[in-house]
Amino acid sequence: MIRLGNVLVSPGEGGVYGERTLDGYRVWDPYRSKLAALYTLGGGIELTPDMRALYLGAANGTTVSHVADYVETVYAVEFAPRPMQDLLEVARRRRNIVPIMADANRPEEYAPFMEAVDLLYQDVAQPNQVEIAERNLVFLKPGGHLILMLKTRSVDVRRDPAEVLAEARTGLEKRLDIADVRWLDPYHHDHAAIVCSRRE
Ligand code: SAM
Repeated sequence: MIRLGNVLVSPGEGGVYGERTLDGYRVWDPYRSKLAALYTLGGGIELTPDMRALYLGAANGTTVSHVADYVETVYAVEFAPRPMQDLLEVARRRRNIVPIMADANRPEEYAPFMEAVDLLYQDVAQPNQVEIAERNLVFLKPGGHLILMLKTRSVDVRRDPAEVLAEARTGLEKRLDIADVRWLDPYHHDHAAIVCSRRE
């Protein structure tokens, strides 16, 4: 990942959502993007030009656009019509973002448009976040990585966030190797990043 001093940046053309630029690079703000927070905190996996990624919960394409600056192709799934409009606009200006309007609970609906991916990234803030990730593992290559952004309050607002995280981790461990788990404070409260790799 590219850093200028301690500022995380990505190597695309600026002006996607009003982000700042620095020496010709786009500043990737950890307060606006959980993935940027993960990298800023020293975690995450290196994004490389030969990678294909499936991104679940694309929203208006803010983080998607930065991922697209680093990798070959991003398949970006979003089910809400309003953010989808913005995502389409972002995708119109990039050759490597494939916007897909679909429910991430139903991977069979977008399977015809997909190829195997090196990275499965998920940020959907739903009660069944782990289940959604598991359903989409069909697209992940052996040796590929899942990065799950767990919003513990979406799973159960009354439960201890640490308990929710432990349960999610146990669920994922049945099918994946856990590489790293960390909270995203001070950038995003009650959010944890779980990085896993698919067994070969
Ligand atoms: N990842 C985005 C970013 O960093 O710019 C922010 C994502 S926002 C927290 C969660 C998004 O997931 C929302 O736009 C929501 O509509 C979408 N979402 C939630 N459940 C979904 C589902 N089952 N299928 C597809 N999108 C979903």
